[in-house]
Amino acid sequence: MFSYRHAFHAGNHADVLKHTVLIAVLDHLLEKETALTVVDTHAGAGLYRLDGDYAGTSGEAAEGVLRLLSPEAQPDAAPVAEALARYLAVVRDFNPKGGARIYPGSPFITHHLLREQDKLKLFELHPTDARTLAANIAQLEAGRQIAVLRDDGFGSATKFLPPPSRRALVLCDPSYEIKSDYARVLDFIGAALKRFATGSYAVWHPIIPRPEAHDLPRRLKTLATKAGKPWLHATLTVKSSKIVTDAAGAQHRPGLPASGMFLINPPYTLKAQLEAALPLMAQRLAQDRHASFSLDAGA
Ligand code: SAM
Repeated sequence: MFSYRHAFHAGNHADVLKHTVLIAVLDHLLEKETALTVVDTHAGAGLYRLDGDYAGTSGEAAEGVLRLLSPEAQPDAAPVAEALARYLAVVRDFNPKGGARIYPGSPFITHHLLREQDKLKLFELHPTDARTLAANIAQLEAGRQIAVLRDDGFGSATKFLPPPSRRALVLCDPSYEIKSDYARVLDFIGAALKRFATGSYAVWHPIIPRPEAHDLPRRLKTLATKAGKPWLHATLTVKSSKIVTDAAGAQHRPGLPASGMFLINPPYTLKAQLEAALPLMAQRLAQDRHASFSLDAGA
C-alpha cells in the first residue's frame, strides 16, 4: 500500500496545477477576516529538497516547476497569468537565495498563507512521511494552529467539519496507488458535503487510462449537482498517454500524462484566473504536441 512517496514527484506538472489552484483558492478565502480551517486529508511530508535523492531520481520537477522558473522558459516579455505568477512567487519565498532547492508541499504552502486566527489539520498515514511531516511542522513553532494526525484522512477528516467559524477548505489529494482510492474519494466528499454543504472542496485526480480515473470527475459532478452546489473542473495534459515502443522493441509507459483539480463551491474569481493561467501552463509544460487544458464549470 505504501509504495507512493511524494518526494519523487514534488514540483511536477501535477503539483504546478494543484498548488496554483490551492493558492488562488486560499488567497480568495483569506480576504474575509473570519477564521478559516484548512483540512489536508493527504498531506505528504510537507517540504521537499529538489536537489535531494528522491527528487533527483525521477527529475519530475525539471519538467514542472523548474521549467517555469528557468529564465529561458520565461523571457521578460512573456505574459504571466496572475495565478501562475502568484504560485511562482510562493515557491520563490521558500528559496530566498534564488533557484528552487526547496519545494513546499500543500501543508507548507497553506501555512505560509494562513493568518493567526486560522487552523490547519494535516492527515498523513505513511509512517516515514508522517514522521518527516511532524518534524518539519515542529520547526514552524505554530503551536495549536497546526495539528498533524497520523491517521486515515478519508476516515477521520470529516470530524473537523464544520469548524466553529463555519469556514473551511478541504484539500483531498490521495496518491490513488490503490484502486479503492477513487471510490473512497467519492464516499468522503459525499459524507463531507452532508455534514458541511457550504465548505470549499478541492480534489486532485490523475488522468490515466483506467475506468475509475475516467469516472471520478463525472461522479464528482453528479455529487455537486445533487447537493445543489457549483463546481469547477480544470485539467492539464502535458503529453500523450500512449505506450511508446522504442527502437529495441521495448514498451514504455509514459509517466503521468495529465491531471485535474475538481472544486466544489469554488471562489467566483477562480474561473477567470484559470482561463488565463491554464493556456500558459499547457504551453510551458508541454512534453509533446498533445499538451492541452480544459476548464468546465457547473452551477
Ligand atoms: N498533498 C500533498 C502536497 O500537495 O504536497 C501531497 C500528498 S501525496 C499526493 C499523497 C499522500 O497521501 C502520500 O504522502 C501518502 O503517504 C498519503 N496517504 C495515502 N493514503 C492515505 C490515507 N488514507 N490517509 C492519509 N494519508 C494517506
